Amino acid sequence: MRVAVFSTKNYDREFLLPAAQKTGHDVTFFEPRLTTQTAVLARDFPAICSFVNDHVDTQVAEALAAGGTKFVALRCAGFNQVDLEACRKLGLRVARVPAYSPYAVAEHAVGLMLALNRKYHKAYSRVREGNFSIEGLLGFDMQGKTVGVVGTGKIGAATARILAGFGCRVLLYDVVQNDELRSRGQYVPLEDLLAESDIITLHCPLSLQTYHMISRASLERMKPGVMLINTSRGALVNTPAVIDGLKSGKIGYLGLDVYEEEADLFFEDHSDRVIQDDVFVRLATFPNVLITAHQAFFTDTALTEIARVTMANLTAFEQGETTANELSR
Ligand code: NAD
Repeated sequence: MRVAVFSTKNYDREFLLPAAQKTGHDVTFFEPRLTTQTAVLARDFPAICSFVNDHVDTQVAEALAAGGTKFVALRCAGFNQVDLEACRKLGLRVARVPAYSPYAVAEHAVGLMLALNRKYHKAYSRVREGNFSIEGLLGFDMQGKTVGVVGTGKIGAATARILAGFGCRVLLYDVVQNDELRSRGQYVPLEDLLAESDIITLHCPLSLQTYHMISRASLERMKPGVMLINTSRGALVNTPAVIDGLKSGKIGYLGLDVYEEEADLFFEDHSDRVIQDDVFVRLATFPNVLITAHQAFFTDTALTEIARVTMANLTAFEQGETTANELSR
């Protein structure tokens, strides 16, 4: 099947092309993000493939449907960027890759914790400049610390297991509890998790219920100097509230792989431009903030699996089958 691939980078080509050749799909790569302006590129393609910052809102869905597209293959797990109701009404079917490597994201979340705690990023620069002082690099033992995992699905569970292995006391919160995790941690109400945790890591999807779940009110409940990690979706966090928390010292460390307004920044090189997003720029000035640009998923294992499942989703659609990866039916 002919597939228009949006937001293509070299690494997408590297993994998607062999998977497409194996399954007989004819992929055309487009660099731009999918928007109302670029949706026209998909004209006469029965399927498109899009990523986390390709917003399939009503207008984009209408443009795709008008151009003859019938299937949207998301090469990601999260689908908050897609208006499923609009797609359903327009007869656009949507499928995602629900699980590719929860370990990739969990390991990155724990990597952010370790880097913020032991300040590897600062040590790296110092030693390269011949500065061997360890003044200011003081960390803490993870062993014995209380870590709150919010959202205990695939990624949250993998994170909880790693942290239990470190000897942390793991507190868990989810609207649906995972019985297999009870040997690694203890389910508690969200209020208790917020109040008792030294480190809080977010692993739930973005939805109406979770939008800005880290707010001024939830920050009030947290321990002074708490470490907050978000590798899930930017809008789980109210960024201005978090900036105030950093200024007051309520938040002692902040590790982000996602940012509410990341669509205009992440995945591109803006190093020769003036960044216009003042909130982001303020965030990046804090010495105790570490931001990565949505790279938690970015391992060879994950990209291989994303490519494989994306092609399988396209094949299923082409053959008139419906799979559990479909969202819109
Ligand atoms: P999952 O569906 O396996 O788990 C999500 C869990 O969140 C579920 O157990 C669900 O019950 C829980 N949940 C839903 N609403 C909740 C609420 N209001 N409060 C608490 N828990 C709630 O998903 P996953 O594979 O573990 O992925 C989690 C999220 O990670 C995705 O939704 C996506 O946003 C994000 N993600 C980020 C990256 C990255 O590269 N940074 C990559 C993949 C996924």
